[in-house]
Amino acid sequence: MDVAKLQSALEGMGEKPYRLTQAKDAVFRQLVSHWNEATALPPALREKLNATIPISEFEVVRESESERGDTCKAALKLTDGNLIETVLMRHSNGRNTVCVSSQAGCPMACTFCATGTMGLKRNLTTSEIVAQVLHFSRQLAAKGERVTNMVMMGMGEPMHNYDNVMAAIRILNDQKGLALGARHMSISTCGIVAGIHRMADEPLQVNLAVSLHAPNDELRTRLMPVNRAYPLAKLMPAIDAYIAKTGRKVMFEYLLIDGLNDTPAVITELAVLLKKPLYHLNLIKYHTTGAFVSTGRDRRTEILDYMKKAFVSVTHRITFGEDIDAACGQLANKHSKTEVV
Ligand code: SF4
Repeated sequence: MDVAKLQSALEGMGEKPYRLTQAKDAVFRQLVSHWNEATALPPALREKLNATIPISEFEVVRESESERGDTCKAALKLTDGNLIETVLMRHSNGRNTVCVSSQAGCPMACTFCATGTMGLKRNLTTSEIVAQVLHFSRQLAAKGERVTNMVMMGMGEPMHNYDNVMAAIRILNDQKGLALGARHMSISTCGIVAGIHRMADEPLQVNLAVSLHAPNDELRTRLMPVNRAYPLAKLMPAIDAYIAKTGRKVMFEYLLIDGLNDTPAVITELAVLLKKPLYHLNLIKYHTTGAFVSTGRDRRTEILDYMKKAFVSVTHRITFGEDIDAACGQLANKHSKTEVV
């Protein structure tokens, strides 16, 4: 739900301002999925809202739950037929994180990523981004729980849909709505320098994550074509400028790929690059999408230990949903070839 559009729809219908408060309460607090359930509103207004600005903007095509029961992936069909995927990860400490898509498909063509093979279909609207969080908010509310975190790490490059992404974040953060704390929301970019500069000027303290995956240009360009436009000589100073302006930590995502970016020489180079205050390295198990092979468990542990000894701030990300293709780099609807219009 795009609150600005809801407000203008209500104004266009000649409604008093308090109707906006009631409508927002229905969508974000009572978590209704259809205006007919918003009983604080008069029936005639509910009908008009259904016709003008419906709450549900997609049909749930499929939902898969991981064997461990901690991950749920939803395939959502948008009103124009495009398919997106969104994932709920339930942590053992009570955190419930939704991994949100910002685009249908993605133009960035990172070679390790299933979404990158789809190409870009289109940017998602603010409303479609918010709707992904609302979808899982409703499911969790039925169990007495709520969404606590949001990461923009699903399909798409968020910096290429910046305005809609930030508008969605402001709606999710609204204290009279879902009230998701800004520090509990993260935007992950493949390294769009202009977007990093824009984020540095945002008043909201949303986290920045950067997909790094290689410590030198030769290897990074091989993995991520975006590195031609934004090589490390441009990317790293932009990140430093972001840190200088915001004082906030930046997370570097690093998928470990066997024999490619996990060799002793590359790992030494990575440690040198990332040993800096407010840099944090997040090592991630690579989930095979056909292109490469995952680094084995022992080597991943070795790399983690090496980084700690080299005084690099580091963690190893817990894997969610590998068995349902919901893990990092695996989102790309397997039925997209037949279902995407
Ligand atoms: S990793 Fe992100 S930016 Fe790269 S192709 Fe996949 S979705 Fe796009």
